[in-house]
Amino acid sequence: MKPFLGEEEALAAAEVVRSGWVAQGPRVAEFEQAFAGYAGAGHGIAVSNCTTGLHLALHLLGVGPGDEVVVPSFSFIATANAAKYVGATPVFADVDPATGNVTPETLDAVITPRTTAVIAVHQGGVPFDVDAVRALCDRRGIPLVHDSACAAGSTYRGRPVSSGAALAAWSFHPRKLLTTGEGGMVTAEDAEWATRLRKLREHGMSVSAADRHAQGSVKLEAYEEVGFNFRMTDMQAAVGLIQLRKLPDVIARRRELAGRYHKLLGEVDGLRCVADPEYGTTNYQSFWVVLPDDYAGTSVDVLTALQARGVSGRRGIMASHLEPAYADAPKADLPVTEHLTRRSIILPLYHQMTEAEQDTVVSGLVDALRGTR
Ligand SMILES: *Cc1c(COP(=O)(O)O)cnc(C)c1O
Repeated sequence: MKPFLGEEEALAAAEVVRSGWVAQGPRVAEFEQAFAGYAGAGHGIAVSNCTTGLHLALHLLGVGPGDEVVVPSFSFIATANAAKYVGATPVFADVDPATGNVTPETLDAVITPRTTAVIAVHQGGVPFDVDAVRALCDRRGIPLVHDSACAAGSTYRGRPVSSGAALAAWSFHPRKLLTTGEGGMVTAEDAEWATRLRKLREHGMSVSAADRHAQGSVKLEAYEEVGFNFRMTDMQAAVGLIQLRKLPDVIARRRELAGRYHKLLGEVDGLRCVADPEYGTTNYQSFWVVLPDDYAGTSVDVLTALQARGVSGRRGIMASHLEPAYADAPKADLPVTEHLTRRSIILPLYHQMTEAEQDTVVSGLVDALRGTR
């Protein structure tokens, strides 16, 4: 991944610096509105990153010690960590081999009477089956949080992927398609939830610092509950506004390059590439491939061979339950997760990629696979 940043972003950030108001202020408010509009969400609450956004969402829901939060292990570890931050226990659900996402079946297998929230991830930009997962959670009376970190611009049944979601958390880390350096957003439908989220991300203050400043009269804030400092800066939001405008082009180009990968790699026996599910489209935030079963080497062997040709691939999406941080978690039976994480790699894909560069990746991969069959 390479971020796609230009002079416009540099100028927008500089303008904020020159204005003298660099913390959360008018640019953040503007970015929140613009992003919520793009995402088809009622409200946008900018936060410092997606991890704090997930933490805030669980805190809002009142999840705490003694509670279980069902999450996929097959995700960046922040998804599971969010449950830990509120004192709850993450319980790992397996995923579907085609999408890498949780399904009603994999969730149902691990939901217990102590489950107080489910975090479902649109992994690598591939949407999970929102209607089906929501129906299960509704039936069980369990709130559903979307981890939409990777999914800005993905679609579900023709609409933005988390539109109408009660709570979704987004990431603007440079590894995602829209970046503000660090940064995130929570989107919410309910106005009261949005108000409380705004307060919680700013120390529990009754009036935001920006609003107090803008009022021109003396107004004292109260601290109504113990909150957090999860704010975004106006410098980041100014960059985000430009990035948001570019996003449709970025996604179109990624989908074009992904289509080319599909064509070129379709010839490789036994290799499987991530693709759109029948109910939606991915923004191809990650282009992952599963190595052929008859390839005798490991994913590290392939990455090493690619590296020798100047191609920087990455290991597949991680399995959180295999990391030392979760060594003491209850044993989980996650065969699909373990297979995908061991046998997949992520190929380079970025807006500026040329077809020649893509050809180098493809021939490198083909050669690497030939080596050990
Ligand atoms: C990147 C990512 C996160 C964390 O986002 P940050 O903004 O870096 O905190 C969480 N969940 C998933 C699925 C991610 O890919």
